[in-house]
Amino acid sequence: MAVEMHAGLASEGGSKLKMLLTFVDTLPNGRCNVIPQESSNSIKDWKFCNVIPQESSNSIKDWKFDFIAYRGFFLDGLILGNTDAHDWSEKGTYYALDLGGTNFRVLRVQLGGGRSSILDNDVKRQPIPQHLMTSTSEDLFDFIASSLKEFVDQEGDAESSVDRRRELGFTFSFPVKQISVSSGTLIKWTKGFAIRDMVGMEVSGCLEQAMTRKGLNMKVAALVNDSVGTLALGHYHDADTVAAVIIGTGTNACYMERTDAIIKCQGLLTTSGGMVVNMEWGNFWSAHLPRTTYDIDLDADSPNPNYQGFEKMISGMYLGDIVRRVILRMSEEADIFGPVSSKLSMPFILSLSAFLVKLCCFRTPLMAAMHEDDSPELTEVGRILSDILEVRKLVVKVCDVVTRRAARLAAAGIAGILKKIGRDGSGGKTPGRSRSDNRIRRTVVAVEGGLYTSYTMFREYLHEALNEILGEEVSQHVFLKVTEDGSGIGAALLAASQSSNSVDRDVIDGKLLGNLISLFVCGHMNM
Ligand code: ADP
Ligand code: MG
Repeated sequence: MAVEMHAGLASEGGSKLKMLLTFVDTLPNGRCNVIPQESSNSIKDWKFCNVIPQESSNSIKDWKFDFIAYRGFFLDGLILGNTDAHDWSEKGTYYALDLGGTNFRVLRVQLGGGRSSILDNDVKRQPIPQHLMTSTSEDLFDFIASSLKEFVDQEGDAESSVDRRRELGFTFSFPVKQISVSSGTLIKWTKGFAIRDMVGMEVSGCLEQAMTRKGLNMKVAALVNDSVGTLALGHYHDADTVAAVIIGTGTNACYMERTDAIIKCQGLLTTSGGMVVNMEWGNFWSAHLPRTTYDIDLDADSPNPNYQGFEKMISGMYLGDIVRRVILRMSEEADIFGPVSSKLSMPFILSLSAFLVKLCCFRTPLMAAMHEDDSPELTEVGRILSDILEVRKLVVKVCDVVTRRAARLAAAGIAGILKKIGRDGSGGKTPGRSRSDNRIRRTVVAVEGGLYTSYTMFREYLHEALNEILGEEVSQHVFLKVTEDGSGIGAALLAASQSSNSVDRDVIDGKLLGNLISLFVCGHMNM
C-alpha cells in the first residue's frame, strides 16, 4: 500500500491509487481541554471527546456518540485549539448532504462561534431508491434537492428566510477530480451507481441547478467525499487525527499529506504546508492480494469489472455476495443445501422486492447475523437457511473466513498509511528529542461506516490484525475512533470555514490554481 501511495503521488496515472487532491489544506480544530486517557494497550474503538469514564471498554455499544449528551461539556469545557491558520470560530446554521452508498443523509449543524462550537446537529437518513442509481443525473439531483428542501422547511429554520445565498457542504463519495474545494468532475461511478450522462460533469453545478429548480437559495461551499468529511470531524475532536477510513457499503481512505511529497504537482503551496489526499483506496490492487475464483467471478459479474478490486474484497456491498458464491459452489458440488441451492444462484445485484431480497440474497447484515449467531443450535442460521446443524456450522465458518480476510486487508491498508506518514513506529518519533527521550507519537484514525460500526466480528478482526502488524509497542499509541455521521457533519464544518474564510480562500485558490493548471490539463487527458 505504501509503495503504491508513493507511485500515485509521483505521477498522474502512476498507480491504481489515484491519490486525488482535495483542496482541503486546513482541518477544523476544536480540541477538548480534557485529553482522554487511553489506558488500553491495544487498539480499540474510541468515540470522540467522550469524557464519560468507560473509555477502556471493549464494546462499541458503550460508546454511543451523542452530541446532545455532552453538549454541556462542549459549552463549558471546550477550548479551541488555534494551531492552524484559521481559527474555526464560525457561527450559524449550516446544512450538508451525504450521498454515496446505501443511505442518503441530510444534515443540519448549528455552530455557536468561538468557544461553543458545535451546538447541535440533526440528521435525516433515507435509503436511496434503487431506480435512481441508474436513472438520469437530473432525476437523482432532483430527489436530493427535494429531500433537502423538505428538511429545511420542516426545521422551520428562521435563517432560511434570510435573503442570502447559504453555504452547503456536499459529501459525494465517488471518485471526483477536484477543480477547487467546492467543485469537481465525476471520474467514474462505483458501488452500483451507473448514471451515464453524469460522468465528466461538474458535480456541484448539477446539485445547484436542481436546488434552483426546487427554489432553494443555496450554493455548495465544500465538495468532499465521505473520508474527507470524516477526517474533518475527527480532527475537530482530536488534533492527533491524521487519517480517516470508511468501511460501509464501499471503502476508502484519506490522510493529511505534506505538499512537498505530492510530487505530481510540484510547487504546490498551501498555508498549512499540507493537503488532504483522497486515496480512493477501493481501487487499490496488488499481485500480493489473496484473490480467489469467487473474487474473479464477482468482479466479472459487477457493473465495473477490473475496478475497485480492494473494495470488492472488503466492503459491505460485496461480502455477502462472496459468501453466497462460496455456498453455492459447495451446494453444487456436495448437494448439502437441498432446495436452497436455487435461491443461492440469484446474483445480489438483481432488483428484487424487499421480501425477496430478505429471502434469497446474502446481504451483508444477514451474513453478520448468521456469523454472530451464538445459540447452540444456530437458530438464526437455521432461520435463514433451513438445513441441518453441521451445514449451519459450515456456513458460519464461511462467513468467518470471508469477514476475517476483509478485516485483515483493511487493517493492512491502515498500516500502509501509517507507514507512509511515519507513524508505524519506523519514523514516528518526536523530533528534537534525545534518543532516550524518544516517544512514538499518539496517532488517531477516524473510522466511519456501517460494516465497521455494526459488525462486531469484523471490527475485532481488524483490531487484532492491526495490533499484529504494528506490534504491541506501536499499537498502544494508535487509536481508531468512530465518527457517527462524521462524513456529513465534517462537510458542514468545512463549508462553514470556506464561507467565513472566503477572502483567504481566494488567495489560496489563486496560488493553487497557478500551480495546478498543468496538473489538471494532464489529469483530464489521462481520464
Ligand atoms: P453508506 O454511507 O455507504 O450508505 P453506511 O455507513 O450507512 O453506508 O453503512 C451501510 C452498509 O454497512 C450496508 O450497506 C451494509 O453493507 C453494512 N452494514 C450495516 N449494518 C450491518 C450489520 N449489522 N452487519 C454487517 N454489515 C452491516
Ligand atoms: Mg456513508
